[in-house]
Amino acid sequence: IWSISRGVLNKRMIDLAENNGVDFRFEEKVWDIDLPRAVVYTGESEKGEWKEYPFDLVFGCDGAFSRVRHKMQRRSRFDYSQDFIDVGYKELTIPANADGTHKLDKHSFHIWPRGKFMFIAMPNLDGSFTCTLFMPFEGEVSFESLQTKKDAVRFFNSYFPNVKDEIENLTEDFFKNPTSAMVTMKCYPWTYWDKVALVGDSAHAVVPFYGQGMNAGFEDIYVLDQLIQEFGDDWERIFTTYQEKRKPNADAIAELSYRNFIEMSSKTADANFLLQKKIEKHFSSKHPEKWIPAYSRVTFSNRPYAEALAEGDAQEEIMKEVMKISNIAENWDSLEVENLMLKLLSGS
Ligand SMILES: Cc1cc2nc3c(=O)[nH]c(=O)nc-3n(C[C@H](O)[C@H](O)[C@H](O)COP(=O)(O)OP(=O)(O)OC[C@H]3O[C@@H](n4cnc5c(N)ncnc54)[C@H](O)[C@@H]3O)c2cc1C
Repeated sequence: IWSISRGVLNKRMIDLAENNGVDFRFEEKVWDIDLPRAVVYTGESEKGEWKEYPFDLVFGCDGAFSRVRHKMQRRSRFDYSQDFIDVGYKELTIPANADGTHKLDKHSFHIWPRGKFMFIAMPNLDGSFTCTLFMPFEGEVSFESLQTKKDAVRFFNSYFPNVKDEIENLTEDFFKNPTSAMVTMKCYPWTYWDKVALVGDSAHAVVPFYGQGMNAGFEDIYVLDQLIQEFGDDWERIFTTYQEKRKPNADAIAELSYRNFIEMSSKTADANFLLQKKIEKHFSSKHPEKWIPAYSRVTFSNRPYAEALAEGDAQEEIMKEVMKISNIAENWDSLEVENLMLKLLSGS
């Protein structure tokens, strides 16, 4: 999995949209929306003068703290929840070697799990790595506890000795880059009559541990596009079907993303967990049609998130039985384990 520059992707998408006739208005914030009339109000400031734009339809793609959703929240029977986790994140960089090569293995997603905190690094095409430090805001080892360069150097030295050659860069980034919060947002309905629809994070922001937030937004668009082709200009039907199809999947990726946080930060340091993953990988390579790991189903297939969650839960139940086998650490690739998995999969 390669990470890509958000700026480059944004520019590319803007170019594609402009070539298809989209009119972009930067520096013009939306302050309000009249939902039944699909009228958008914009202006330089909330208290200043506003312009009024009447539309046939409005798609609220204005992110986790959406103004459009904010207006929908004030209506009766609109469900809404927002959950911040106690962990914050900071982006750091490991630059390329002088000859442009990668300093760490470029074919791996690097994780240094430390229980309540973790450091991850993902390769970029230019030889650098985009890294993220996830850590509690407050507490013994926390963003709050690292106030000086000396604190940060000591922290990286003691917890992440593999990257100690990079400490100068990392500590510089540490004090230059902001510490950001992570939130899960859920709401329903996502649409207002046949006039307004929420798309992307405005409808379903998730914590970033599955790397699927933006992809979930693209899936919304993909489904909307299919429904437009199916139902033409029957927007009431398009919107109703859209939210019914997407909501269970958005809830599923929210759950999977949160679970992956626990898995990455603590379980990847647990010998039993690693053994379980090794068994699953081995079985999956022998029976690829019978065992697609949840992560692969989410990341490398077009199957719905809700299916990945349900299948993942069923696999977990099977693995609980497998891990009970005596001497499993020695027998992990035995016929006994394989046969038990096949038996449990067939439900007999
Ligand atoms: C640390 C981190 C790592 C992530 N990693 C991944 C990853 O690896 N893969 C992945 O798929 N996703 C990832 N995500 C999630 C991804 O960033 C989001 O899901 C995605 O950006 C959501 O897109 P969006 O268009 O819905 O909202 P946003 O990207 O938030 O865009 C909303 C836009 O609306 C504009 N806007 C907001 N309010 C107004 C207003 N009132 N008036 C006018 N304009 C407004 C904003 O300026 C912005 O341009 C990550 C998120 C985080 C925090």
